[in-house]
Amino acid sequence: MCDSEALRARVRSVRHRIAEACRSAGRAPADVRLLAVSKTRSAAEIRAAATAGLTRFGENHLDEAGAKQAELAGLALEWHFIGPIQSNKTRAIAASFDWVQSVDRTRIVRRLGEQRDPEAAPLNVLLQVNIDREPQKSGCPPEKIAELADAVGRYPSLMLRGLMAIPAADNDDAQNRAAFGRMRGHFKQLRHDHPAVDTLSMGMSADLEIAIEQGSTMVRVGTALFGPR
Ligand SMILES: *Cc1c(COP(=O)(O)O)cnc(C)c1O
Repeated sequence: MCDSEALRARVRSVRHRIAEACRSAGRAPADVRLLAVSKTRSAAEIRAAATAGLTRFGENHLDEAGAKQAELAGLALEWHFIGPIQSNKTRAIAASFDWVQSVDRTRIVRRLGEQRDPEAAPLNVLLQVNIDREPQKSGCPPEKIAELADAVGRYPSLMLRGLMAIPAADNDDAQNRAAFGRMRGHFKQLRHDHPAVDTLSMGMSADLEIAIEQGSTMVRVGTALFGPR
């Protein structure tokens, strides 16, 4: 099998997993979007993934992403920034991404809001929540969600879309299910306060079924699409 055939097979397999998880949960497969996490992958691999039908790509390092975005400028792709954000990088992030999933403090909201070109489409924002309260992890504590959401709402150049979380890497399935379940509760509350919110980004290669069971509307998948990193 050539590489692009292997990639197409993995894309089919991931779509099948999403469809099955939706079926088990009584949800429509169209309710769950697939974000291809392309960190560490080459521009050629992303091009092949686009040919296989993927349209959304997630990157966690600005410099690495920039080089690939330049090479793929001719393709109509949606770029998501999913990595920790240093404040000296916000201008470049605001200029070259369609979504930022890892917003976790007011200073970053303010900088993105001021730096996003007002003539451009609003930057779609997810608030990253440190759902397992890990000391070294990015993400805001759950009790900060409301305040950060209100801050995003003050900038016409930003569009609040929802929440993102990465549970602790050493969780077992039961702990992941509980973490995703807590996120579902926070998402419900956020939607109540900000009715335009529509995105709950959770679930990766190893745990997308549990995330979909708990209400994920966007899974972020790297390894299961591109192979081991
Ligand atoms: C790397 C990464 C993923 C994808 O992880 P896989 O296990 O390869 O699917 C998802 N979300 C974030 C934020 C990541 O950094």
